[in-house]
Amino acid sequence: MVGGGPAGRAAASACSDAGLAVELVDPAPRSGWASTFGSWVDELPPDVAALSTVMDRVRLHGTSAHVWQRPYAVLDNTALWKHLWRADVTEVTGRAVAAEHGPTGSTVILKDGRRLAAGVVVDATGPARVLSGGRPPHPPAQQTAIGWVVDSATAGAFCGPGEGVFMDWRSAPRTRGGWPTFLYAVRLGPDRVLLEETSLARRPALPLALLRRRLAGRLSDAGIDPQAQLGEERVRFPVDDPLPRPGRVVPFGAAAGFVHPASGFSVARALLRAPWLAAALSGGLTTGPATAARAGWQVLWPPDAIAAHVLRQRSLRALLSLPPEAVPDFFEAFFSMPEPHRIEFLAGEGTSAGTARAMSALFARVPWSVRRSIVWGGMSLGRPPAKHGLGGS
Ligand SMILES: Cc1cc2nc3c(=O)[nH]c(=O)nc-3n(C[C@H](O)[C@H](O)[C@H](O)COP(=O)(O)OP(=O)(O)OC[C@H]3O[C@@H](n4cnc5c(N)ncnc54)[C@H](O)[C@@H]3O)c2cc1C
Repeated sequence: MVGGGPAGRAAASACSDAGLAVELVDPAPRSGWASTFGSWVDELPPDVAALSTVMDRVRLHGTSAHVWQRPYAVLDNTALWKHLWRADVTEVTGRAVAAEHGPTGSTVILKDGRRLAAGVVVDATGPARVLSGGRPPHPPAQQTAIGWVVDSATAGAFCGPGEGVFMDWRSAPRTRGGWPTFLYAVRLGPDRVLLEETSLARRPALPLALLRRRLAGRLSDAGIDPQAQLGEERVRFPVDDPLPRPGRVVPFGAAAGFVHPASGFSVARALLRAPWLAAALSGGLTTGPATAARAGWQVLWPPDAIAAHVLRQRSLRALLSLPPEAVPDFFEAFFSMPEPHRIEFLAGEGTSAGTARAMSALFARVPWSVRRSIVWGGMSLGRPPAKHGLGGS
């Protein structure tokens, strides 16, 4: 297992539970995870949901206010790390740089020259995709965000007890043009709330300094002193990485294209898929390493999951091609769809039929002006998206 993020740890624990001997390589295998991970509760394994802070509902705002009665969780990273830790997973502190493969297994080569033998190699190195082709050559569309932690009383202007804000597209005060961003607000426990100014996806990424300015504007307009922040979270990760090719290394988590382009989520999917991966590898290894790697890929990426992935990437392109002023209308249409469509579209993995149904329902709801951009964006597969309104304030 290469990479000790949530995906690598989940896969390592599942493989260990399946009776496989596991070595986990990471530059800092014990450092834990600093990012705030959110997910719909119904998409988490129940034992993980039980370890999380749960909000009963979330607020949404496109051009009007909505409340979604769908429980939303923020994971407790320490509890999750402990939950996934296994005494018999051997931790190796190091940085993998390459892998070699033969008929009887693989060798992972570390930067310092050490060589580790393995039956199968899983690449869970996140966006670095170290053993799965590395970073793609083109600049990625990235999600960026700046989040400030405040106490619950301070956050009261944005979300009441027991609730969060999934997306509020009302523009931050004194925002003059530019690509729209939204407020995301989640509870980190009984007395802390994370308020995050988020750019869902942009190529090139929206700068963090701009997001910080917008967040400070929101807070001061609500009468909150920006100095009331207790900590800052900086978010930047790609949302449109292509699927790695199947081969002798099995990619997993963000390295495997799990990141949902419309939410940026991948953790719940990795947690759910880890036992499937472990079962496929363990079954495949009874025949041989190449069979195991193939089985691992196939269980993660059956043809329908690939088709759903392609449709989602298409909808991301359509979103990126929208004129900035149409983005809140687009999300208003999304939030007004029947719940099953919203759930299907945002699903960690989803089905191609469900994704297509949701996209058609969305298309039928958006204004004509937005439809034109969606058609153009959806059809422009492979073309660079139009550069609308970069920068701004
Ligand atoms: C701040 C932030 C907030 C996010 N919020 C959410 C959220 O709310 N919900 C959600 O689902 N997703 C969220 N994401 C997106 C995504 O799900 C996360 O990036 C998640 O951490 C991906 O998990 P992963 O284990 O696949 O990869 P990572 O967490 O990136 O883990 C990769 C691991 O591989 C290690 N590694 C890298 N290179 C090497 C190497 N050469 N050799 C060995 N090890 C290596 C790294 O040190 C790291 O430990 C967020 C991302 C960020 C950055």
